[in-house]
Amino acid sequence: MCGVIGICSKSNVSTSLFYGMNSLQHRGQEAAGMAVYDGEEIRRTRSMGLVIDAFTEEKLRELPGTIGIGHVRYATASGSHDYNIQPLMGFIGGEMIALASDGNLVNYQILRERLEEEGMMFQTTSDTEVILYLITRYYDGDIVEAIKKTMKVIRGAYSVTALVKDKVVAFRDPHGFRPFVLGRDGDDVIVASENAAIEIIGGEMTRNVEAGEILVIDGTGIHSDRFESEATARNCIFEYVYFARNDATLDDINAYTFRRRCGEILWEEAPCDVDLVVPVPDSGIPSAIGYAQAAGIPYGEGLVKNRYMGRTFIKPTQKEREMAVKLKLNPLVDVVKGKSIVLLDDSIVRGTTSRNLIKRLRDAGAREVHMRITSPPVAYSCYYGIDTPNRKNLIAANQSIQEIEENIGADSLAFISLEGLAKAGKKDVSEYCTACFDGDYPVDPTLI
Ligand code: SF4
Repeated sequence: MCGVIGICSKSNVSTSLFYGMNSLQHRGQEAAGMAVYDGEEIRRTRSMGLVIDAFTEEKLRELPGTIGIGHVRYATASGSHDYNIQPLMGFIGGEMIALASDGNLVNYQILRERLEEEGMMFQTTSDTEVILYLITRYYDGDIVEAIKKTMKVIRGAYSVTALVKDKVVAFRDPHGFRPFVLGRDGDDVIVASENAAIEIIGGEMTRNVEAGEILVIDGTGIHSDRFESEATARNCIFEYVYFARNDATLDDINAYTFRRRCGEILWEEAPCDVDLVVPVPDSGIPSAIGYAQAAGIPYGEGLVKNRYMGRTFIKPTQKEREMAVKLKLNPLVDVVKGKSIVLLDDSIVRGTTSRNLIKRLRDAGAREVHMRITSPPVAYSCYYGIDTPNRKNLIAANQSIQEIEENIGADSLAFISLEGLAKAGKKDVSEYCTACFDGDYPVDPTLI
């Protein structure tokens, strides 16, 4: 999971990119980078760490220019190394190009091996370099045609922003796995993973970048083209469950409203007679509010979140994740002591977080701890850019719901149904990617 942004403006964009990237920080905390075209060349700054640490005022001053792109990165398949920090750069028809992507190519290894056999030397272990290389290879003066030829070859999930001289180019895979939105701030045009990146800099989201769409944005306006494909849109449903910010409206569904409805639906599907509904913050908050209101049970904040921690789900090692859970969430004794509670969380991946939270809530005096989960059991790995672990480490791939209930020490455990989840977004199951729940992969992952 990563975040991308691109801005085409008449004034300096580096500060706007900085703030936009900040609002996408939840999508990746390992590294950040931006590239800006100053009228003559593309300059780039990249660094490991958070956006706020990666860019000082001085660094931003060294990046003047009215057109630029930015990227926040979480290392998925390709590992955590500074040579993988995006945007990546190259040359296309004698001009510089910078490119950044959110997603994951399932046929990356095959393509890389093929290109290496042909003599290509890679400088990163990122699949984004394959996209960059293929575009430069197919380019003969028409960037849109080069992208179409590239899209014919690459398979998987990608929302890409590129800087090609004085143009921002954006394209999204034919299934539209990862989110991508378009907005305006007066004459300025912005593309970004989520609308918050547009709104934070004073703009307004106008529409989605459609699945399979290719946009070229320059001083003359927005030019839209399409990659023709039989694929239908299958947006990642997990974006709404967990990844996107509450204020994200992606492919016409608001994440907060979706999560709140999940809570209401979960109450219908799995009611629970308790004193208090407690969320696991932050993504559990709207669903706990929905559950509490539908049930007529008081809502209480029984866990306090350390807001200066990154996401536990996306820490590289198990030990780090366990320490992060302890640091990140602390039970509020005054709220939970002597109470029977139902804890609302978005997912159970390995079971570590749930087991730890339930134990600590009991230690804090909770009489009963029931769990309700606003996603179905995660029983399959994701190959489209979300760092779910190998199947053997997914608790739901190896244990029944009753076994998981015992394993995490809950008084009762229930998951929302897949149909209930789709209903929360007022769409049919077939309109989403739901592969991590049901194994129905829209793009064959065995291409790996
Ligand atoms: Fe999203 Fe799951 Fe599909 Fe991955 S497999 S894109 S996490 S719904």
